[in-house]
Amino acid sequence: VIERLETPDLAAAWCADRRAAVQTLGFVPTMGALHEGHLGLVRRAADENERVCVSVFVNPLQFNDPRDFERYPRDFTADADLLAANGCDMVFTGTLAEFFAGSEGDMERVARRDPGPAAASLEGEHRPGHFEGVATIVGRLFEVVEPDRAYFGLKDYQQSLVVTDVARAMAHAMNREIEVIACPTAREASGLARSSRNELLSAAQRTEAAAIHRALLAARDAWHAESVRDAAVLAARMRAVLEPTSLVVEYAELRDPEAWTAVQPAGPMERAVALVAARAGEVRLIDNVRLDGAARV
Ligand code: AMP
Repeated sequence: VIERLETPDLAAAWCADRRAAVQTLGFVPTMGALHEGHLGLVRRAADENERVCVSVFVNPLQFNDPRDFERYPRDFTADADLLAANGCDMVFTGTLAEFFAGSEGDMERVARRDPGPAAASLEGEHRPGHFEGVATIVGRLFEVVEPDRAYFGLKDYQQSLVVTDVARAMAHAMNREIEVIACPTAREASGLARSSRNELLSAAQRTEAAAIHRALLAARDAWHAESVRDAAVLAARMRAVLEPTSLVVEYAELRDPEAWTAVQPAGPMERAVALVAARAGEVRLIDNVRLDGAARV
């Protein structure tokens, strides 16, 4: 049976008990409306740790668009049932006021954490304040849980870089190394990356949205089959797939996964991740694929 805790204080006490019993603790932060993407992280955490806990908190600090926050899907009961069936021992939630003592639930009164250099450009540029909000809540969640390992999805590629930096920055003050583990992207049969926001797509939009993954694969094919290494050419291959659709492209760019830069690298690339953000109607979708290496994620 799963423990369901309604406040961060109760969660912190539960986690402290597990540490006192010298049990390793895996942690998966989420915003709920759970799907196979989240559950894959939970199962991996259960494989690698003696105890697993999950947070479900739709964090208002990371929504640059208030309408996106309002329509974000929420179903805590369904989430708890799915977690219980996938090896999670404890799920917790809380309010903004409970997470940030002294804020009285007012976002303006929450001290933000600097998300660091990986927040530059792409999501950081198109969603102002988003990564400050992510770094702030993840830092707070790490203080509550003090996990041995924390699991994030590569679907949110830039986020995985930001939270790795947060864990590193906190290690000294917490006297604890939190290992951040970035996990492959779970996809629908069409290739569309699983996302809580997919629930908001019409059937026609869902079909159109699969072009995002096709665009990423076109870049990957150009990398492997034609040995294309020029970022501008790879980006053009993605746009050629996206432009005939009704998707509105925010960006389709390349980065070196081992050296994040604000702008797309010029000249031949040695390693590359291709990243896309596009809108299907009101719904904003992101995805990425690593071009070099064997992993098809
Ligand atoms: P969210 O609830 O959207 O904040 O996501 C919680 C965690 O699940 C984040 O680390 C995401 O990167 C991860 N995640 C979301 N969708 C997927 C997916 N399709 N595959 C793998 N991980 C995912």
